[in-house]
Amino acid sequence: MCGIVAYLGERQAYPILMKGLKRLEYRGYDSAGVAILDGEMLLYKVKGKVAELVASIGKKKTSGTVGMAHTRWATHGEPNEINAHPHYSPTHNLAIIHNGIIENYVALKKELLKRGYIFQSETDTEVLIHLIEDIKLNERVDLVNAVQIALKQVIGAYAIVVISKDDPDILVAARKSSPLVIGIGKKEFFVASDAAPIIEHTSDVVYLNDEEIAIIQKNKPLKIKTISDIERTPYIEKLELNLSKIEKSGFEHFMLKEIFEQPHSIRDSMRGRLKINEGIVALGGILDYEQKLINARRILIVACGTSWHAGLVGEYLIEELARIPVEVEYASEFRYRKPVINEEDVVIAISQSGETADTLAAIELAKSKGATIIGICNVVGSSIARATHAGSYTHAGPEIGVASTKAFTAQVTILVMLALRLAYKRGTLPMSQFYQLLNELDGIPEKVEKTLLLNDKIKKLAEIFKDSTNALYLGRGYNFPVALEGALKLKEISYIHAEGYPAAEMKHGPIALIDENMPVVVLATNKTIYDKVVTNIQEVKARKGIIIAIVNEGDKTIGEMADYSIEVPETEEIFTPLISTIPLQLFSYHMAVLRGCNVDQPRNLAKSVTVE
Ligand code: GLU
Repeated sequence: MCGIVAYLGERQAYPILMKGLKRLEYRGYDSAGVAILDGEMLLYKVKGKVAELVASIGKKKTSGTVGMAHTRWATHGEPNEINAHPHYSPTHNLAIIHNGIIENYVALKKELLKRGYIFQSETDTEVLIHLIEDIKLNERVDLVNAVQIALKQVIGAYAIVVISKDDPDILVAARKSSPLVIGIGKKEFFVASDAAPIIEHTSDVVYLNDEEIAIIQKNKPLKIKTISDIERTPYIEKLELNLSKIEKSGFEHFMLKEIFEQPHSIRDSMRGRLKINEGIVALGGILDYEQKLINARRILIVACGTSWHAGLVGEYLIEELARIPVEVEYASEFRYRKPVINEEDVVIAISQSGETADTLAAIELAKSKGATIIGICNVVGSSIARATHAGSYTHAGPEIGVASTKAFTAQVTILVMLALRLAYKRGTLPMSQFYQLLNELDGIPEKVEKTLLLNDKIKKLAEIFKDSTNALYLGRGYNFPVALEGALKLKEISYIHAEGYPAAEMKHGPIALIDENMPVVVLATNKTIYDKVVTNIQEVKARKGIIIAIVNEGDKTIGEMADYSIEVPETEEIFTPLISTIPLQLFSYHMAVLRGCNVDQPRNLAKSVTVE
């Protein structure tokens, strides 16, 4: 959460920082700020988005070749100008930007208050910069040492950049449990929460590891040390990202672009893994640990939000195809309850960003009990990717829209391949069926492409329902997680209350909500329990609910029963989530646009939840 960008070089920092901040805005956007060194320290901040920061700065002085900027997702203290970053040290000599949470800030603050320090903001971050300056002045150490000593006292998560008016040619950056990447250009350096602001300047990057400090100086090579002062050799990697991947490319919103990218992103997830001519499916990244999975006593899937929904699909898939018991857990619950885990368990952790704090903590817990940990992440080199024993990248490309779309279908694609692979290895699926499923999977991107042609029809549907205040999503079997995901999408971007339910559970409560104003989205593409779904539709109709049914092409039975129906291409039941999710994504997108909501930056949310 939150975007950090910093620059040190020979060019003017301000335009680079503002452009970078715009690219990072999806990570948090309740307030923004910038600090630039130019003999003095210029520091500006506002409540609101980057555009408001730029407008408020207007023609004020912004010159300088060293600086840093931040876009915040508040954890401590409401979003306002005072709590926005950067934060000054007491003498205004230093300033800091921070992503994460200083968990012991209360204790540290108490100590500093005793010594007479005065705080301007309610943030945990300001405590850290006070502490750094206190150490610098009282222990008479240089800035780097002061940061090292301060960070040793910190409990929590941080990615920080510190600048100093007295040392105008140095940026000090550090991380623990929050990502930070350093771009190395010609006589210039960039620091950012992710590669998006760096890509247009250089493809040489260094990812900082936990408890490492980067010392970035003018005309000197990058230096990295740990907070315990052990020197580390920077490991320079090449970014394989191109600019078009992080731009809207003609689409009105990132979310719509990402929905439409799915035929390609699903194909990219399968590339090199599904070898249709050889009749093979294999996930290279987990081959070394495959035997552990094959022999697993059970598989635990830990995830949050949309990834948790993908995990639920994974449970259905792995149990049905590979006959291994699976449990799906919210990472935030798992980490704080006392789960029974042992060495024969395999934990699959799913996270788009690979930085989800709760999922990371769940991994550490399971690891400490001896379980094998497999990761499914989108962001290459992310913390979860590094914390796991093995894993599979989804290769969906950068996802900027806060509401996850293509990452979900890519996660499901990986889980489908994993379940098929385990089934093959365990002999739990007849070979003829196995090959047939591989062939069908290979054709999924084309079916997704066809489903996207429904866009205009779905937009018209959204026009009818845009003023709804509630919605119910019902599905059974593989469509149950899809119902949950559809409801979540509607909630998060259009702020309409929606609930996803297993269709048959409706009569145990939610049926009481149904009246002539309640739109009920029924996912009715199942083949095995088709008649049961028909019954559920009748139950809703009998109470005058309005049925929007997602049905297979040519399904006239439900088509005629429903008030509105959307026909999608038919596929094997186990692959239905990859198809039936698409109309729900489009529906929530159009609903949100028609209601005037900010689709890519929904209120209170941020991409990549790096805090608890
Ligand atoms: N905890 C800090 C704050 O509330 C940083 C939040 C963030 O990561 O944006 O200001």
